[in-house]
Amino acid sequence: MSIDPRRAEYLRTIGIDLWVPRAGALGGGAAAAACESPPAPRPIRARAPGLAEDTEAWQRLRAEVRGCTRCALHQSRTQAVLGVGPERCDWMVVGEAPGAEEDRRGEPFVGRAGKLLDAMLRAIGLGRDANVYIANILKSRPPGNRDPRPEEVQACLPYLHRQIELVQPRLLLAVGRIAAQNLLGTDQSLGKLRGRVHRFGERNVPLVVTYHPAYLLRSPADKRQAWEDLKFARATLARSLTG
Ligand code: SF4
Repeated sequence: MSIDPRRAEYLRTIGIDLWVPRAGALGGGAAAAACESPPAPRPIRARAPGLAEDTEAWQRLRAEVRGCTRCALHQSRTQAVLGVGPERCDWMVVGEAPGAEEDRRGEPFVGRAGKLLDAMLRAIGLGRDANVYIANILKSRPPGNRDPRPEEVQACLPYLHRQIELVQPRLLLAVGRIAAQNLLGTDQSLGKLRGRVHRFGERNVPLVVTYHPAYLLRSPADKRQAWEDLKFARATLARSLTG
């Protein structure tokens, strides 16, 4: 089975080895190598934009977050980082908080971890420029990339809830322990939260948990499990759309 070269590159980036039969192996008696053949992603589009009042709500939200002083993090940030992606779409990724690069550029997931996240998403047909919205629990960078404090999360979480209301995702992907625990209101470990479909909010949006890409950069052996999570998330969304 042939795989689109760009997609093959995304899969290699996320640590998925592609095995193809060696030339002549099929006819020469040698065993053909196993072939990783993930189903090709179906094109996933951003949904039709929301109403004019949604546009106004986004403008209000952007202005509010830009000038937010609800917690002490506003004192040390360069700028608040709201999110990126289409204003209404089926997929929404939620991470922890902006890092140094995000704080500087004003966009979530733009450093090395962001590049890995993009490759993971591209491998299942998603891109922040097309069909997935990406945000964080916190909109301002915690100094030294420390974990968010409970009072900071409490102050900032209403912004994320408003984003989710506006984007109206059909699937939430929580990347990392901090995002998963705060979205689900639990202190269970990431290991316990992975591999299950959770539900978020009044609309019961399916929520799937996976590793944070920054963790995967430190622990590349777990990229294979993250790939399984992504396939699980994609299957979950497909089931919810047809169910
Ligand atoms: S982290 Fe959130 S609540 Fe705190 S200042 Fe930034 S935008 Fe406001």
